[in-house]
Amino acid sequence: MADKPTFTTWTILKILDWTKQYFAEKGVENPRLDAEVLLCAVLQCQRIKLYVDFERPLTADELATYKGYVQRRAQHEPLAYILGEKAFMRNNFKVTEATLVPRPETELLVESVTIAAKKMKPEGEVKILDIGTGSGAIIVSLLDYLPKAKGVGVDISVDALIIAKENAEQIGVKERCGFVRSDLFERIPADKKFDIIVSNPPYIPAADIATLAKDVQKEPITALDGGKDGLDFYRRIIAEAQSHMEEEGLLAFEVGIHQCDVVAQLCKDAGFVATAIRKDYADIGRMVFAVKGQRRENEYEDLLLEITKY
Ligand code: SAM
Ligand code: GLN
Repeated sequence: MADKPTFTTWTILKILDWTKQYFAEKGVENPRLDAEVLLCAVLQCQRIKLYVDFERPLTADELATYKGYVQRRAQHEPLAYILGEKAFMRNNFKVTEATLVPRPETELLVESVTIAAKKMKPEGEVKILDIGTGSGAIIVSLLDYLPKAKGVGVDISVDALIIAKENAEQIGVKERCGFVRSDLFERIPADKKFDIIVSNPPYIPAADIATLAKDVQKEPITALDGGKDGLDFYRRIIAEAQSHMEEEGLLAFEVGIHQCDVVAQLCKDAGFVATAIRKDYADIGRMVFAVKGQRRENEYEDLLLEITKY
């Protein structure tokens, strides 16, 4: 009698082991974790549940959806694009291929700006401009933490702005946040002034783009390319920022590796009275703050110390 054909029953355990191996061969950075996260998205469960149900077989539909996700991830599509969202501060932000995936370092920028806003305007009515808003991660989080603040997010990408607006609505700050398609300040009215201007502009030197991790190269080039030395956007923003800032305003940047001192100097050269740098958890100078202030430099020490001391 001929042997019966055997079919593999794909249980949770088996498929995770298989995917881990497959991702590792494809050079995916966290093969096991990504396999688990994608499977959770298919099964709509928490990761702990996978471990409780290791022997649970997958249905044909679950298997088909999972396979689609695995193929995309094996081609280095960022996990956040496959899942359609990324956790940032205390919310989940919708993301698409039109938006940069918000980074953990940028959470530190939001933290510093939140502290600055509370110190600068204890009554809370602070006006904030976010240049290159992408998914809206920065401005939407700031308005979420500062219930009386008002904000504007600008971006050159209409597709990114659509997502930013959706996030503002979802997170409940839409009434206090405008979104404008603009090349930096181009469409911000000349007489419109802000207390804080914040930006995480594209800052990767053009020649370095090809050397970035494959995942990062799937993100929009307009979100990454900072020109020859990576500093194009800082030069342009710094040149125009003060005319859009209140007298005691703060400019707050995220910067790339080795850029903090140069960007702080650019701010000083443009007439900003005081500057400070904050490092990220990898000890890289990651944020530059500059005060437009009308008083002497040392009168801003307290504020700058407070927002960079961590
Ligand atoms: N703020 C988001 C974040 O931190 O996750 C996105 C930052 S991403 C590094 C830079 C953003 O700047 C992108 O969304 C890109 O579309 C936008 N951008 C690029 N050139 C621009 C320009 N000339 N004017 C306005 N925005 C621009
Ligand atoms: N932080 C991004 C990276 O690690 C770059 C984003 C930017 O250019 N602002 O590649």
